[in-house]
Amino acid sequence: MVVKASDIDWNNLGFNYMQLPYRYLAYYRNGKWEKGELTEDPYLHLHEGSPILHYGQGAFEGLKAYRTKDGSVQLFRPDRNAKRLQNSADRLLMPEYPVEDFVNAVKEVVKANEDYVPPYGTGATLYIRPLLIGVGPNIGVKPADEYIFSIFVMPVGPYFKGGLVPTKFVVLDYDRAAHKGTGQSKVGGNYAASLLAGDWAHKHGYSDAIYLDPIEHKYIEEVGSANFFGITKDGKKFLTPKSPSILPSITKYSLLDLAKDRLGLETEETKISIDNLDEFSEAGACGTAAVISPIAGIKYGDNYHVFYSETEVGPITKKLYDELTGIQFGDVEAPKGWIVKVD
Ligand SMILES: *Cc1c(COP(=O)(O)O)cnc(C)c1O
Repeated sequence: MVVKASDIDWNNLGFNYMQLPYRYLAYYRNGKWEKGELTEDPYLHLHEGSPILHYGQGAFEGLKAYRTKDGSVQLFRPDRNAKRLQNSADRLLMPEYPVEDFVNAVKEVVKANEDYVPPYGTGATLYIRPLLIGVGPNIGVKPADEYIFSIFVMPVGPYFKGGLVPTKFVVLDYDRAAHKGTGQSKVGGNYAASLLAGDWAHKHGYSDAIYLDPIEHKYIEEVGSANFFGITKDGKKFLTPKSPSILPSITKYSLLDLAKDRLGLETEETKISIDNLDEFSEAGACGTAAVISPIAGIKYGDNYHVFYSETEVGPITKKLYDELTGIQFGDVEAPKGWIVKVD
């Protein structure tokens, strides 16, 4: 059932599915994308032979719409999500959805559900979930002939209700992606592979599992479904892992720019050894959903390494958070091209 905007408690939203009036739907048939449109039906009608169901031929994205102080609505770097979905599509032999059409479709679906973009000051946002999936009658292992591109949206709360609270993570003996597999692509298979480790972590009091590189199991790759960053003890460097099996986080690349241009830090994408956590005074996980989530500590074998503090966010992490969210909510001037207005 469609939820009424007037019934939503904006200050107590989590990250839960909520049915809104409109979603976007476009079909790829006979070798081309057909014109998409808004629909009210939250169900996709799929053929039983759809490759997404059997062989996981599908990719997704995640971005947000933000309400600014003056009441307008804006997106953060949606062209980057469009480009990344194209890269995921290339890896899984799916047709690319054009960047401009992606951004316009996002604007259209946000505009249609505008009453559900949470008020400025609540920290809540409208989460946007685009999907690209292979459908139609198939059974052999080969790419589909038909595809669906769809976008649904829902209001979500801030990741941290009571301010930035550090949480702890655990390194387990599971990989989420292979070295030359699909780690760089935002595809469901990587998430299916991570459910078991994530579940174990949650049940044992951790926020999520940390994944090490799949070859040596020595270098940090991902923190659950977010990227890792660390601030060196001298307070001068922002470091983040480099590997072909990491999902290129748009938040991470934005922080690399902000750390350098606005905070005057040196930045580098480099290998970060799990045995070398002592070099950092602060560490965090970053992504659209998590924004920046300070890491209290990491459990690895018998060791538990604490970074800045188990209860308080470090000063540089806090500065990065304020700068990034300031830009996203329109309070801080954005680097050129980062903000797209929904009008
Ligand atoms: C989406 C995602 C991220 C974060 O990317 P953003 O573009 O910052 O939202 C990080 N890791 C994984 C595995 C992801 O799927």
